[in-house]
Amino acid sequence: MSGLSKSGFAARSITARLFAVFFAAVIAASAVGAPACKKDEKRSLTFFAMDTVMDISLYGSADALDTAQKTVLDIEKALSVTDAGSEIFKLNEAGALSVSESTANIIKTALALAERTGGAFDPTVYPLVHAWGFTTGEHRVPTDDEIAALIKKVDYRAVETDGGRIALPEGFMLDLGGIAKGYASDRLVELFKAEGVESAVINLGGNVHALGKKPSGEAWNIAINDPAGGYAAILAVSDRAVITSGGYERNFTLDGITYCHIIDPETGRPADSGLASVTVVSSSGTLADALSTALYVMGLENAVEFYRNSSDFDAVFILESGGMYVTEGLKDILSPKGRFGSEAIHFIKKQP
Ligand code: AMP
Ligand code: MG
Repeated sequence: MSGLSKSGFAARSITARLFAVFFAAVIAASAVGAPACKKDEKRSLTFFAMDTVMDISLYGSADALDTAQKTVLDIEKALSVTDAGSEIFKLNEAGALSVSESTANIIKTALALAERTGGAFDPTVYPLVHAWGFTTGEHRVPTDDEIAALIKKVDYRAVETDGGRIALPEGFMLDLGGIAKGYASDRLVELFKAEGVESAVINLGGNVHALGKKPSGEAWNIAINDPAGGYAAILAVSDRAVITSGGYERNFTLDGITYCHIIDPETGRPADSGLASVTVVSSSGTLADALSTALYVMGLENAVEFYRNSSDFDAVFILESGGMYVTEGLKDILSPKGRFGSEAIHFIKKQP
């Protein structure tokens, strides 16, 4: 199902890429028909970066769109795990490097989120991701001995940071693929706000960030994919990132077993927690991206406990067995779609 990843971000199949374009079109369509004066014209830009289709629509100046594209490409250039020119690649090769301020900041944020999630999200997971072939496209199932050896090279607590200088123990490698798109969407929101843009939808390969509301004053409608195909739900949001992790997004099948690209750092194997996807909704794209990956690894029960001890996100869980679990903060803004009638939805209360 998966394509070769040139830049080391979540590479997707052609179907998924086309779907992303279609998905973007759905969102764009929801913005049509709003009254717009010349200055607030709707403008859209679609381009390819981080191995996926990016689609940005905003009401405001065309310059903001150009700067947005440049910003995303710069982030990709700095953070790609496979581009020999990137800071992350050089750090992984050298073991220690003084990186730019922005790269140091995202590394430190990723380490803090690893700590918060007890290592379910771990940016040092790359030796395992690489061994399973997810960034080379040469998929394989590593031997038990290989996995046991590589697990010792995965531990966010072993990364040393001293200002902009990052140091990794021998054999350790960073991979920010689980957080980079959410981080990029936060950077774009900052940029748009600075440029006076009040209304935009940033769709970075299905990771969506809505800035403000539609010019009509209505919330943006963001679709959550059903891992089995079609849509599972629509969320009406403003000023929120809506970011999904799911094994269906990238995987390979060997001898009848499907292996997904999200690795459980504890077992060294693809996460197999009974979840088909996790969507996290938060005002921070960076947080939503790291948490969607982490909660997918944790599985429903641990994720619910984590949610109850947090106050900065909501989530939608779709189980492999078919159920949908939704945290209560989304109760009034979620409309189920497709096979999910409202009777099939279980709400998760903040207080058990
Ligand atoms: P996402 O689609 O945001 O869940 O990110 C998945 C990507 O993050 C994978 O393609 C890997 O590059 C990386 N990754 C896989 N497992 C983990 C993990 N447990 N913690 C952090 N990053 C991971
Ligand atoms: Mg993620």
